[in-house]
Amino acid sequence: MTSWKVLITDGLSEKGQAILRSECQVDDRNDIPADELLQVIGEYDALIVRSRTKVTPEVFEAAKKLKVVGRAGVGVDNINLAAAAAHGVTVVNAPKSTSVAVAELALGLMLDLARAIPIADSSMKGGQWLKKELKGVELNGKTLGIIGMGNIGSALAVRAAAMGMRVVGYDPLLPAEEISKRGAEPVALDDLYAKADYISLHIPLTEETRGLINGQALAKMKRGVRIVCTARGNIIDETALLGAIESGQVAGAALDVYSKEPPGLTALVAHPKVIATPHIGAQTAEAQVRAAEDMGTEILAALRGEPLRWKVV
Ligand code: NAD
Repeated sequence: MTSWKVLITDGLSEKGQAILRSECQVDDRNDIPADELLQVIGEYDALIVRSRTKVTPEVFEAAKKLKVVGRAGVGVDNINLAAAAAHGVTVVNAPKSTSVAVAELALGLMLDLARAIPIADSSMKGGQWLKKELKGVELNGKTLGIIGMGNIGSALAVRAAAMGMRVVGYDPLLPAEEISKRGAEPVALDDLYAKADYISLHIPLTEETRGLINGQALAKMKRGVRIVCTARGNIIDETALLGAIESGQVAGAALDVYSKEPPGLTALVAHPKVIATPHIGAQTAEAQVRAAEDMGTEILAALRGEPLRWKVV
């Protein structure tokens, strides 16, 4: 039997590791430092990462036997796709496994922003009773603008509609009919900015989307808009967002992702109108098992040279 060697650097649920062990030697080196990865990668046929490990051109250069890199989740912005292609290495992800988990977090963060639930809780734990001060707003009857109507954006659209929200969506890569089918009224981006009481971002980080939510975009939004970002930190210009919160243009923001992770106690994280979570979008028991199973079967298929469901490169 062929014994391929697989390296896992950011953890993978046991179910996925068991699938791989049927045909491979699996080394689980959670949290391996970048310099050590460069030293050992030469031995491996497959590498499985989440978002921590940066798969740089140097990694591909050092990886003499590498056939496939797997991302046990969605975003592949931590993998240098051009270098993968140049070295003939396949890249696969598990794009469907975590959509519900992220959509549920986005909805939860919208409720947190509307009702200041984190402040209500922390003030109680501080012995306070801020009943009068904590008057919130409702989601019902408000407009949600979803930027990016892919797997997560469309999962959020149906959930927001169930809360009584009007949902508008912007996605330049999808036909208008498809956006409607996925549960949102298709709109142009400026129209979304003008209409939305809540804006939730569900786009990948690309050269085009980097800094999309900058000062100009924030100025086009409705005064008092609430913004949720569970996509990627660099899509938002964090300095511009802080300014817009301080001026009252943005009433609140909930962030799961940051330009630098972990961000530390930045002015944005510390701001009382910001709810910050530590990149937990995909961190549910169910999503992690699904991602690991999808990854296990996809990596085996890639090693065997079989057709792939989720080939990125
Ligand atoms: P997806 O590929 O299914 O959907 C992304 C959508 O964005 C696509 O429909 C695409 O057409 C659209 N898009 C691309 N460029 C755009 C642009 N400039 N403007 C508007 N739309 C644009 O991906 P998904 O599964 O919905 O995930 C979206 C992103 O969420 C991922 O790329 C990842 O960065 C992030 N994510 C975060 C977590 C987390 O833990 N917080 C977990 C999973 C995914």
